[in-house]
Amino acid sequence: MDRRTVLKSILIGTTALSASPSLLAASKADESSQVKDYLSKIRNFNQHFDDDVILTGRKLRLLKTVVARLKRVQRFVGYANFSLLSFDKALYFARNYSKIGNFSKEEIQFLEEIFYTNSNDYGFYGEKVTKNITAGVSKRDTIKVPYTGNYLFRGDSLHLYEKIRRDIGKSIVLTSGVRGIMKQIYLFLSKAVRSNGNLSMASRSLAPPGHSFHGNGDFDVGKTGFGSRNFTEDFAGTTEFKKLEELGYIRIRYHENNPFGVRFEPWHVKVIA
Ligand SMILES: [Zn+2]
Repeated sequence: MDRRTVLKSILIGTTALSASPSLLAASKADESSQVKDYLSKIRNFNQHFDDDVILTGRKLRLLKTVVARLKRVQRFVGYANFSLLSFDKALYFARNYSKIGNFSKEEIQFLEEIFYTNSNDYGFYGEKVTKNITAGVSKRDTIKVPYTGNYLFRGDSLHLYEKIRRDIGKSIVLTSGVRGIMKQIYLFLSKAVRSNGNLSMASRSLAPPGHSFHGNGDFDVGKTGFGSRNFTEDFAGTTEFKKLEELGYIRIRYHENNPFGVRFEPWHVKVIA
């Protein structure tokens, strides 16, 4: 068994044995250096590690041109619309509007490669919930939440969000809702650009495309006026977060020491079991 397979079996084994935060306990119990190494990565998510997978040369150039083009797509269709945009629609707009410019064959291949590569190869262990790059979100299944620029799925997601607002108040607000494939690709690859092509580092902060539960119900909340700090551990120090916790119906998907290869995300609300 190679290193990653061993690590994966440790992670899956420990989470099956106990509820969160199981990995920390496991690391104390068996002093496994692999678990320690793993936990160090998700805690120091923005640091570079020697075995990180990094795009270089032609791939790094493609990464940058693709992200620039997607940025133009987003500007063209608008922030909120972009969050629901499918792969095919993005290609359509790029092909038909010179402001964006057509995706080259190489760029399309690159996007497909990013989507279909096994994320375990660069250190992300979460489930793949959307298997096809052309999967779309039906606008009819969603509702635009006023003043947030975000959509939520009707049904469970919307009800949970409304319940949170009723219980905690208007100071808690939706910060990221439904994300289609293109939006997740854009967020993930933008993070990869900021990480100088480091896919492992990007995946410690953002689920790779196809792995995000924002595609089928989860959403992020924050405190109004807290800005980008809503996406840091500082959010866990707010009264809003404490109330979320006290009320007990918030199940955080990426808790501290989670087994998926992702940093602690107290702002991410799990809707799908
Ligand atoms: Zn989230």
